[in-house]
Amino acid sequence: MESTICDLCKNPFYADANQRICLNCEELRFDAVKEYIDSHEDVSFIELIEETGVSKKSIDKWLMEGRLTAKGNELKTYINERREAIKKLAQGYQNSTEITNVDSENANRISFHTKK
Ligand SMILES: [Zn+2]
Repeated sequence: MESTICDLCKNPFYADANQRICLNCEELRFDAVKEYIDSHEDVSFIELIEETGVSKKSIDKWLMEGRLTAKGNELKTYINERREAIKKLAQGYQNSTEITNVDSENANRISFHTKK
C-alpha cells in the first residue's frame, strides 16, 4: 500500500499495486456498469468495456466477487479458467500468452446481467 493520486478525482488514496483509481471512483464505475447492463439485453464483455470505458480488470474483479453475473454456464467456465490461470501465475507459470487466450475466448461468450 502506498499513497497515490486517483486518476479520476485527483484525490489522494492508499493504493494496492497497479490500482489507478480510488474506491469511491471504482464504486461510481460499478454503478455505471450496472446501469448499462440493466438497460441493455445480452451485454457482451467487449461491449461492456467499450461502452462504459471500465477496464477488463475491474469487470473481472466484480465477476470474481459475484457482484456481476451472467446467463448460462459461460460464466462458470470463465471463472474456473480464471482461477486456474491465477493459480498458474502464482506457481510462476511463464506462458502468459496461453493464459490470456483462454481468458479472452471465454470472455466473449459471456452475456451479463446484474444481481437484483
Ligand atoms: Zn477517485
